[in-house]
Amino acid sequence: MADVTVEKLATILKIDVERLLAQLKDAGVEKGAAEDVVSDEEKQKLLAFLRQSHGQDEAPKKITLSRKSTSTIKTAGASGKSKTVNVEVRKKRTYIKRSVIENQNKKVEEERLQKEAEERAKLEAEEAARKAAEEERKQAAEEEERKKEAAAVAKEKEIAEKKAKKQQPKAEQTEKEKQTAKESSKRKLVDTSAIDEKAARLAEEERKKVQAEKERHDAERKGQKDLEAKAAKQTAKLVEKYKDEAEKADQNKPVETKIEHGSKLVEQAFESSLEKEAREIRRRKDAKKRAGGRRNEQAERDPKRPLNKSSILGNHGFQAPTEKQIKIIEIGSMISVTDLAQKMSIKVNQLVKEMFKMGEMVTANQSIDYDTAALVVEEFGHEPKHLSETAIEDALADDIQRKDDGLKARAPVVTIMGHVDHGKTSLLDYIRKAHVADGEAGGITQHIGAYNVDSKAGNITFLDTPGHAAFTAMRARGAKATDIVIIVVAADDGVMPQTEEAIQHAKAANLPIIIAVNKIDKEGADLERIKSDMAAKEVVPEDWGGDYPFIPVSAHTGQGIDDLLENISLQAELLELAAHEEGVAEGVVIESKLEKGRGSVTTLLVQEGALKVGDTVLAGTTYGRVRAMIDDQGRQVKKAGPSIPVEILGLNDVPNAGDKFMVVENDRKAKEVASFREANEREERLSRQQASKLENMFANMGKDQAQVVNIILKADVRGSLEAISAALNDLSTDEVKVAIVTGGVGGISESDVHLAITSDAFILGFNVRADNASKKLAEAEGIDMRYYSVIYELIDDVKAAMSGLLAPERREEIVGIAQVKDVFRSSKFGAVAGSIVTEGVVYKNEPIRVLRDNVVVYEGELESLRRFKDDVAEVKSGTECGIAVKGYNDVQPGDQIEVFKVTEVKREI
Ligand code: GDP
Repeated sequence: MADVTVEKLATILKIDVERLLAQLKDAGVEKGAAEDVVSDEEKQKLLAFLRQSHGQDEAPKKITLSRKSTSTIKTAGASGKSKTVNVEVRKKRTYIKRSVIENQNKKVEEERLQKEAEERAKLEAEEAARKAAEEERKQAAEEEERKKEAAAVAKEKEIAEKKAKKQQPKAEQTEKEKQTAKESSKRKLVDTSAIDEKAARLAEEERKKVQAEKERHDAERKGQKDLEAKAAKQTAKLVEKYKDEAEKADQNKPVETKIEHGSKLVEQAFESSLEKEAREIRRRKDAKKRAGGRRNEQAERDPKRPLNKSSILGNHGFQAPTEKQIKIIEIGSMISVTDLAQKMSIKVNQLVKEMFKMGEMVTANQSIDYDTAALVVEEFGHEPKHLSETAIEDALADDIQRKDDGLKARAPVVTIMGHVDHGKTSLLDYIRKAHVADGEAGGITQHIGAYNVDSKAGNITFLDTPGHAAFTAMRARGAKATDIVIIVVAADDGVMPQTEEAIQHAKAANLPIIIAVNKIDKEGADLERIKSDMAAKEVVPEDWGGDYPFIPVSAHTGQGIDDLLENISLQAELLELAAHEEGVAEGVVIESKLEKGRGSVTTLLVQEGALKVGDTVLAGTTYGRVRAMIDDQGRQVKKAGPSIPVEILGLNDVPNAGDKFMVVENDRKAKEVASFREANEREERLSRQQASKLENMFANMGKDQAQVVNIILKADVRGSLEAISAALNDLSTDEVKVAIVTGGVGGISESDVHLAITSDAFILGFNVRADNASKKLAEAEGIDMRYYSVIYELIDDVKAAMSGLLAPERREEIVGIAQVKDVFRSSKFGAVAGSIVTEGVVYKNEPIRVLRDNVVVYEGELESLRRFKDDVAEVKSGTECGIAVKGYNDVQPGDQIEVFKVTEVKREI
């Protein structure tokens, strides 16, 4: 390398000339000016100096790298068009220098060795102390032995002397001998007393030791003294009392028994006084805890505090682990900070603080991705484990274990499909009414979307789904709710477009099909024509050598209905349908809605096991404990087995029709899976929304690109919402797309209107209405809002809007609204709604709807309209009136009665 000037070198190194000069000087290379030349040798010198002065320690120990990669993926959108979505992946890795870890390990190892050495020393010391004590005890025992031996020898001697004395005749006993005897006995006395003295001294020492021990122990239990003194006082009192009683009662008993009884009483008294005291301590402790503060904890650790019974007896229930616990922390693709803290058994604040130190600003409720969570888990010394997308759900499924031998035959589940007005509802109503016990027939007002009927041909469950679109939506979710499909064709009308669609859907689902040729009672009924029309669609009748039974029926006269039911049970038999009647329940959501005061009201079809009140149900992303269960006849039930539809209350939200449900162990587990699913759904939704925004953009770019009709759809129940959504999505063509910006269950709210403003959408309400605030906002902003009560009218409108052909057509218009204030009972009309007309005019002779929380609950006509006692034909806005609805007695305060007229209007969207 050539020599360079100081200035040039400074530029290369990207530092000031001044600084370089100073560094050169420190390195021992004297350079005075920027123009001075630095030789290779001098450069080496500088390098060596810098290396030395910075040293290795200066190098960073830990580096955190953040990486961001952007890629694009192509995906098919809701409307069928493919779009490009930008995917940004952010990753973060922290690298720690190996030497640092090694150093740390070394340190830890050293600490461990040190600790071990200390531990060993301690153990040795204890052992030595124990040995010394043993030795002492041994010595004492030996001393005692010696003492005993000496005493025994002395005794023997005495006995021998006594014997000798006895053998001598009394008369021969001289004074001298007496003297000797006296002296020897004296000597003996001296001898024994010497031994006794030693023994006494040892005993005294022992006593002192015991005393010292006792004192030490007493000192330790100083805090307990108050309690004991108190207890003793109480005991004494009680003992007195019991003694008196005992003496009175036990006058005749022997003394020992009395003593025994007495001591038992003392024990009892002591126990009870201790318990009382312990209760008192607990009470005080609770009060203190409530008062809060760290002082409390301090007091609890204080050895002087009064002890409770269990600590006196020494049986502690808990031992803190001495070693650090290394846990395996299971994490899905996302986890909330709170959940992560809980899994690691630490406080959320601690986790947030730690993450802050790592450079991640998070809140307790925020969700973090697996990569970040894994880094944090490692930081806390635990082991992260990545759960696969379905692991949590798989674990749930594994929990359910069914025995094969518990299988029992179950009722078939039947769906009726067909073209509008061909008699689906009528057929279902007829079957239902004919097979419900007489007493209950009048009371069927319940709409739970499914009915179980007990016919002559057996037990059958009918799904009353709003058309085949809902059926398709269910199938798309993988929920096979139906076993058999009945396609209704009106004998006087023939095969229609929706009949064909029904055939396609049923065939695609690979389900057995029965054709019910309805309205056979009608004049123009032609069974043979229907058969040939259907055969042309590859539905060949059995009597023509095909696979499909054709049953002529009439929902009006009841003709052929028994045949139809017979055929259903025949098919069911072939299918050999079976399920477990007991065990954990599983099944599918039929429909779901929100009701004021009742919350989420969900119709479930049990497919396996038994669903019970009190069970925790997990359905899609919703969960909750079953608060109440109502059957298809409006009766409260406690249990529902396979093929039985029930309405349940208690879920935390409305699940989707077609979502599978299952009973899980507890709320915690249910919540875990539900939030896991929700996180997945949110991500999907987000990418969908991005895509739809893109579409929007393209649409606005020029007339050449596809046009988009943006729709905000609100409906009364999930089933309708899905049916309409599916039908609308099918309308999309290459030139015009339908994009449902959002769809939901319930009345139209202000936020829906805001969304319509920003997304340039129009709002469609199916059996729902807008509240006042949103109505005003929509009017002010010129947002198009339309109400419907027939699916096909809605679809036709959108179709017309798409093709730009909006011919004038008959449609309804709301002319007046009355608000129900109070409800009275009248013997003549039943429920009379005391109301005030809030908008337009209420006419007696126009059709009406009853709305509750902006959702249609009844459609019909008025029985009477009164001002005071007079019948009137109309009531204007701002006036009070009494309204009785024909055939509907369930009007409630707060309801709205909406009067509409069918008029001819020019339609524009
Ligand atoms: P859905 O739209 O398929 O549910 O059809 P509905 O059950 O609402 O029936 C449409 C119309 O057909 C109603 O006016 C019924 O009264 C009438 N209808 C249904 N079944 C019969 C039948 O067996 N005989 C006759 N004559 N009319 C029927």
